[in-house]
Amino acid sequence: MVNVGYRSTNYWVVSAGTSRLLVDLGWPGTMGTMRANLRRMDVPLGEIRYGLATHYHIDHAGLAQELKRAGVPLLVLDVQVDAIPEMKRWTKPHDGYVDIALFDNVVISLAESREVLERIDIQGEIVHTPGHSDDSVSLLLDDGSAFTGDLTHPAVVGESDAEVVLASWQALRERGATRVYPAHGPVRAI
Ligand SMILES: [Zn+2]
Repeated sequence: MVNVGYRSTNYWVVSAGTSRLLVDLGWPGTMGTMRANLRRMDVPLGEIRYGLATHYHIDHAGLAQELKRAGVPLLVLDVQVDAIPEMKRWTKPHDGYVDIALFDNVVISLAESREVLERIDIQGEIVHTPGHSDDSVSLLLDDGSAFTGDLTHPAVVGESDAEVVLASWQALRERGATRVYPAHGPVRAI
């Protein structure tokens, strides 16, 4: 696992040899920084088989369209489709956000995720983990690594969303998650 993040946000590259998956996709207008960080961590852009946003907030999917233009297909879960057009409401013209086209994404169901990941040599699945947002998903590898995006830490969960957040953590634990790779902050045990 390699972190190519910046501006207090972790962007994780999961690799199986030269077959790679980028988890979370940069702030709008920062393609130069993303390219530089990938280069610095020896991750050729051409080896990234998919980009996956844990959810469609601007710090997680801001470069999705530019990455697509650079040859990185966008892997979208069906539970995320409706959230994509909503994202641009939170951007301003000077952010340099490039709107995500909807017709050319690779849209899959959660149930298909294991098979799709298997095709790029990554053993794991994508789990729906709502709480921070309805469209939040986590990548859970078979080695116990869970890429949870902004899923609220159980210790700081608010009363209003406690039930759904704790259910998401429970779903991850039940499926074997042992280590958390969050979008903000350090890697920790679950
Ligand atoms: Zn978020």
